[in-house]
Amino acid sequence: MYENEKEKLLAELVQQGIKDEKVLDAIRNVPRELFVPEILRHQAYKNVALPIGKGQTISQPLTVAIMTEALKVEKGMKILEVGTGSGYQAAILDYLGAKVYTIERDFDLFKEARKRFQELGLKIATLCGDGTIGWNEFSPYDGIIVTAAAPDVPKPLKDQLSVGGRLVIPVGSKTTQIMHILTKTGENEFEVEKIPAFQFVPLIGLEGWKNEL
Ligand code: SAM
Repeated sequence: MYENEKEKLLAELVQQGIKDEKVLDAIRNVPRELFVPEILRHQAYKNVALPIGKGQTISQPLTVAIMTEALKVEKGMKILEVGTGSGYQAAILDYLGAKVYTIERDFDLFKEARKRFQELGLKIATLCGDGTIGWNEFSPYDGIIVTAAAPDVPKPLKDQLSVGGRLVIPVGSKTTQIMHILTKTGENEFEVEKIPAFQFVPLIGLEGWKNEL
């Protein structure tokens, strides 16, 4: 199903600069239509973010592809995701052979994503809580991906990354961010690459934005 739409999307991702065949293959094979509300399924292979309820979104496929490519996932890597949302990004990482740990602060979205993982037979570790403080119990991680906008890079996430690991996170204001790709080169040393410009929902928590609701 959705074969034509999928091929069009993949061609668009290649045209936008995505080169990693493994990432393209994951996007081809993980059924995005199962991670969006039923009434939006016909839009699942459009290169757009879509609402998933609770004022949150499943990220645009190009953004998922850029972040996943930046993480340089290899089979068996331990990856932490902050911001489970629909669970789609976590499923992409799982498809690439990573052992995925994912944290969501919203209890309803957390429950829905956990149910989806069960139905799809995905062995993804889930936690409902504040991902800005990471998930220390299983650290260090070979990669950390944050799928919400942070005012700065949370220190606990830097600490929970293994040396040689990569941390991919949008940093900036609540309205626009620059993707930061940190590589941990020593105990407290990082190299940083930056890609403009993205628009994520805010990362809310102790080391993120304050909850103003
Ligand atoms: N990765 C998701 C997907 O594949 O559908 C999209 C994530 S959505 C853009 C951002 C998510 O981050 C929202 O579900 C939001 O509730 C969550 N979030 C915001 N602050 C958080 C925090 N401190 N810890 C965990 N999740 C957080």
